Amino acid sequence: MAGLHVKKNDVVQIMSGANSGKTGKVLRIISESGRVIVEGLNFRKKHTKPSRDNQQGGIVQKEGSISGSNVLLYCPSCKKGVKTRNELRKDGTKTRVCKKCGEVFDKA
Ligand SMILES: [Zn+2]
Repeated sequence: MAGLHVKKNDVVQIMSGANSGKTGKVLRIISESGRVIVEGLNFRKKHTKPSRDNQQGGIVQKEGSISGSNVLLYCPSCKKGVKTRNELRKDGTKTRVCKKCGEVFDKA
């Protein structure tokens, strides 16, 4: 499976679903399922029973995952989620570049 187009700490825009249009930072990549966890988005409320660690029980908010295909890298110049292409730097490392405006992500 090809790697996801987004990485941890990327700012992405959600392109579909209930959170469509919102932006947030990628907290975690779940590469096995191609899903990402985006900061502050897609909260799931989970009821917990009292346990040794949490004697009160109650409701915890958990960040849910979202399919990687539903997010695009947020371009600060375009001010929206954009498609990127890979470019090879002179030193041989790859960087992602905004297809629209040429903004370079992955600055060294
Ligand atoms: Zn751009």
